[in-house]
Amino acid sequence: MTKRIYIKDLNNYIGQEVLIAGWVDIRRDQGKLVFMDMRDMSGKVQCVVLPNHTEAMEQVKEVRTEWVLKISGIVNKRPERNIKEGVVNGDIELEIINIEVLNEAITTPFVINENTIGINEDVRMKYKYLDLRTERMQKNLRVRDKIVTFFRNHMHENGFLDIETPIMTKGTPEGSREYLVPSRLEPGNFYVLPQSPQQFKQLCMVAGFEKYFQIAKCMRDEDTRGDRQPEFTQLDYEMSFIEQEDIISYTEDMFIKMVQSVYPNKKIQQIPFPRITYKESMEKYGNDKPDLRKDKNDPDELAFCWIIDFPMFEKDKEGGVQAVHHPFTSPKSEDMHLLDSDPLSVRANAYDIVLNGYELGGGSIRIHQRELQNKIFELLGLSKETIEARFGHMLNAFEYGAPPHGGCAQGIDRIVMLLENEPNIREVIAFPKTGEGRDLMMGAPSEASEKQLKELGIKIIK
Ligand code: ASP
Repeated sequence: MTKRIYIKDLNNYIGQEVLIAGWVDIRRDQGKLVFMDMRDMSGKVQCVVLPNHTEAMEQVKEVRTEWVLKISGIVNKRPERNIKEGVVNGDIELEIINIEVLNEAITTPFVINENTIGINEDVRMKYKYLDLRTERMQKNLRVRDKIVTFFRNHMHENGFLDIETPIMTKGTPEGSREYLVPSRLEPGNFYVLPQSPQQFKQLCMVAGFEKYFQIAKCMRDEDTRGDRQPEFTQLDYEMSFIEQEDIISYTEDMFIKMVQSVYPNKKIQQIPFPRITYKESMEKYGNDKPDLRKDKNDPDELAFCWIIDFPMFEKDKEGGVQAVHHPFTSPKSEDMHLLDSDPLSVRANAYDIVLNGYELGGGSIRIHQRELQNKIFELLGLSKETIEARFGHMLNAFEYGAPPHGGCAQGIDRIVMLLENEPNIREVIAFPKTGEGRDLMMGAPSEASEKQLKELGIKIIK
């Protein structure tokens, strides 16, 4: 198919015979004339078989929606009265000369040329490859690519280096349960899937890279929640020799430019983004992710804000304390003297970025000194042995000239969901899982074979 023309480019071939390939979107048989909309990755075009093309007329009678065809035809301008304004290819039509069927399709479980938002979601998930053919899903994934590409380019333009960090690793605490992967070579030992690249990105700072970023997959084993996915994607970054102000202003500038570049029609309510302390936010809004939009029905209104001065610790269920952000976050120097006497009133150098009532993500200035890091672990109730076993490598690294550093991360899925005004993140993920963590298309999770379990030294207790 060397000379295949993409449908969006047909306008450049008026009066010429061309070859297109794609799927039958709609077929309308009007007896004398048969119309067919053809679809490829670039767009749609109306095709018509005129009565004088007898061979094509025979062929088109067989064809059904979602069949895959190669069509040769002539690109014609539509007569004035048939022009559809504002529609791609609304002013042209392809006069079909010959049809070659590349593949047939059985009846699809739902209609592809309509929005599938009202279709049973389990059915959509099971046939995700069909759901993804729809215009809305194609648009969501294409805009997602634009947003990610913007972030990537922006990071590179600002001197950040894209560094991949391991997926099979050791636990990094972000407040969730971890996914475990059994080791075959060391029965009884497990890898942990990362809740975030937190420790690795900090170690990249110790390694002297100074500016790291990654579009990182993160895995968190949380209980069923509609808007959560067991795996999700973060824009993750870290910098050395910076203060909280540097991260906040870098991030803010990046988001403003992203909106201007990908969504020029949307308006950001307030620049610079308002900054609200955690305390203020809780008092005034009763939560730490206030929705500051003036008109909540305006799909183009974007109200960003920062929540700053988070507490360092909160009470856990066992009566001890746990980190609000994560244990690598540094306490504010003004509050350092309260660490022993009143840890719950110590504030952290931690910040969240919020959009329209959703937390997009957050970050902190980290601890880079062994002694302070060790003290925080102790305050969190970890024994000497646990600290050594779980975080000894971090403490060691801090002894070899670790620079002051900090960073931030935002959820890509959430960003795209909010900008596209979609009701949940599953609408902007190519192959999402259900709220219960199932992949209905692949059928995951699934049983392991006897042989696999034996090799891993695992017995299943029902
Ligand atoms: N690792 C943090 C998170 O995943 C983000 C950060 O502190 O940079 O929420």
